[in-house]
Amino acid sequence: MKSSIKKLFQKSLNIESIFNESEKIPSSNEKLTSEHSHLNEFKQQSSSIHIFPLGTKENHSGNYSKYVETSLTHISQLLHIKFEYALEDPKISNNVPNLSLSQKKILLLDLDETLVHADFSEEFIDDKYDTIIKFKSKNEENEKNDFFSDDDSTWCDANDSEDDLHSVGLFVRNGVNDFLKEANKYFDIGIFTASVKEYADAVISFLDPENKLIKFRLYRNNCINFNDSFFVKDLRIFKKVDLGKIILVDNSMYSFAAQINNGILINSFFNDKNDYELNNVLEYLINFILPAEDVRDVNEEFFNFRQIINDLVS
Ligand SMILES: [Mg+2]
Repeated sequence: MKSSIKKLFQKSLNIESIFNESEKIPSSNEKLTSEHSHLNEFKQQSSSIHIFPLGTKENHSGNYSKYVETSLTHISQLLHIKFEYALEDPKISNNVPNLSLSQKKILLLDLDETLVHADFSEEFIDDKYDTIIKFKSKNEENEKNDFFSDDDSTWCDANDSEDDLHSVGLFVRNGVNDFLKEANKYFDIGIFTASVKEYADAVISFLDPENKLIKFRLYRNNCINFNDSFFVKDLRIFKKVDLGKIILVDNSMYSFAAQINNGILINSFFNDKNDYELNNVLEYLINFILPAEDVRDVNEEFFNFRQIINDLVS
């Protein structure tokens, strides 16, 4: 095949490895089969990697450098994974807003252990929490035991309470409200959570009761489920948005494994009343991300995630 055609396909479809295996241009029917095989290939790739959840004891109490180092060591194993193949699953694009006309940069915020921490034990003492939220589940058998925060191991059985109404004790990170109000002046804010919709909506409605600060919400179905180990939030689901204009604040680096330079890693929040990490993030966002031509360049200059990974694998 002529190399120019090959380049064109590689650029538009990201199918480099397919071409390496089979030097032919697929017909339209073959293309459908080929796309299906991309998804299967992703599943095969992901199933060959066994990643343990990041330790939650290392990533707070000021141990940020250690957390970054541990996270990047894990992420470096994923460099060869073609996350774009997983994007071919149509479910992942459900309800992704069309943000192409927005003038502001997009600020995506994770929910659990970034803005709040939820206790799903249902054995809680009421006055221990900042609030208690209630939400209904769909009570479908296949969703049983599906309510857990994205990097915590606390579980809640979807079928164990009357009328499927759940009560969850919520710890709210210091300064969330001020953070949302201030950031909203400069960014289009969206929540991008790996939690399920019913729970996440209840939390978001508590954080933004007048629905004025958070413009859109993305849930677990918008994440790439990586071998049932963790969720990746691939920003290419925003098809018309320049990736240089999107930033994701998350306590799990796995969330931005597909675009390492679009992420700001924040220490995990559980219930530390002396935690003021959101102030630090806000300062960084306003002073560095807001004026950035491309957020990825500024992030790399500041955090060196890509450089550290390159050093780890070389
Ligand atoms: Mg989280």
